[in-house]
Amino acid sequence: MKEFSEMTIKEFHQGLKEKKFSAQEAAEFYFKKIEEKNAELNAYLEVFDDALAAAEEVDKEISQGKELGMLSGVPLAIKDNILIEGKICSAASKMLENYRAVYDASVIKKLRAEGAVFLGRTNMDEFAMGSSTENSAFGPTKNPYNASRVPGGSSGGSAAAVAADMALGALGSDTGGSIRQPAGFCGVVGLKPTYGAVSRYGLIAMASSLDQIGPLAKSVEDAEIIFKAIAGRDEMDSTSVGLPSDNPSVEGKLNVGLLEYDKEGVDESVSEAMERAAKILEAAGHKIKKISLDSLRYSLACYYIIMPAEVSSNLARFDGIRYGLHREGEDFIGDYMETRSFGFGREVKRRIMLGTYVLSAGYYDEYYGRAQKVRDLIKSDFHNAFKDVDALLLPTSPTPAFAIGERTDDPLKMYLSDIFTVSANLAGLPAISLPAGKDKEGMPLAIQLMAPHFREDILFFLGKKIEESLR
Ligand code: GLN
Repeated sequence: MKEFSEMTIKEFHQGLKEKKFSAQEAAEFYFKKIEEKNAELNAYLEVFDDALAAAEEVDKEISQGKELGMLSGVPLAIKDNILIEGKICSAASKMLENYRAVYDASVIKKLRAEGAVFLGRTNMDEFAMGSSTENSAFGPTKNPYNASRVPGGSSGGSAAAVAADMALGALGSDTGGSIRQPAGFCGVVGLKPTYGAVSRYGLIAMASSLDQIGPLAKSVEDAEIIFKAIAGRDEMDSTSVGLPSDNPSVEGKLNVGLLEYDKEGVDESVSEAMERAAKILEAAGHKIKKISLDSLRYSLACYYIIMPAEVSSNLARFDGIRYGLHREGEDFIGDYMETRSFGFGREVKRRIMLGTYVLSAGYYDEYYGRAQKVRDLIKSDFHNAFKDVDALLLPTSPTPAFAIGERTDDPLKMYLSDIFTVSANLAGLPAISLPAGKDKEGMPLAIQLMAPHFREDILFFLGKKIEESLR
């Protein structure tokens, strides 16, 4: 039998079905790994002790001869901004340090119905704001490849957990790259689904028009399995829709747009990885076509106006009365000020202030209104590009994982990590980050594919091709 750490979800499913191991043995294996590694990596904020009981339940079903779901017994890590009934869900913030979820997020309900086992909740940048997991109120997560580097963020805990065999797969959330960039930094696969493909009900909102939940996994096929389990229309999220059943099947030769980008600030190793991926697709018979998208130069600026605007209104609910932390002030406003001053970290405060500013009377049109127009431009640029090509190939992040502490004093430098990822969120497009070898220092490299709305199937098809040759 293969080691658990060598198994994909499909192999795990097969092994469990053939009774080569039990779900409990699997859960115990992962618990042991967590015990060995988590003290150093800080990927998990909490390990759930009822995971073993959930695994036992799966084993019982097997012994009763029940049909197994694809995710039955599969040990998963869940980002700490996705609600699991009865569990603390803190968004890595002091504000919600002791907050217990009163219901399951829709994605959790769906995974539960498939028999998945939740190992614990993973560390992240506070309220998902950041690119390195250094903004967690509970200490940074370390990169499993080199503990002096960041794992990326904001889903850094989920990425590190999968990379270090502390989970077979994980859920993250992606508002501007938070699944793809940490997946890239930790050498795993990360998918941001089309906006609306996965219900956001029970995800602690960061920027509602950009947020999506998605999988981090060891292979493209694993990401696909998790994605299919969580996707679909949900009554509780009116922006969710059912996946189209009439997509033409993806086969044969596709046209792939190789994005032209300004090489300044982009690591040579990243550009080389791009070239390798393009060559692989070309060798497989796909047509590579250079493509430039004019509006992309504005995407980061546009994102850093729209996102904080939504953040400032979403986070207004943390008033010290309804959720989580409560601190006494002199009066009602005093309570509010005390609670928020103490409960939120610096980056969260920075974004609330920026967002409040861009939405304020007199500035609204100049900032928020204009950013919305740019967002439309970006969308139509992509729309036009996808008339010519079936998918786009671009980097995930300009550099491999950087050192812990390197960018914490310079928010703009930190924001630059998101230059290649935010446009998919602004346009609502699906995008996947794939491992693409290692740099000279042994750190994972990654490339990204984007496709038209609801064409995750194209990402999986091309992703598998690249994965075969670029491990
Ligand atoms: N790094 C980006 C930011 O800080 C993306 C965050 C995210 O996707 N949640 O906003």
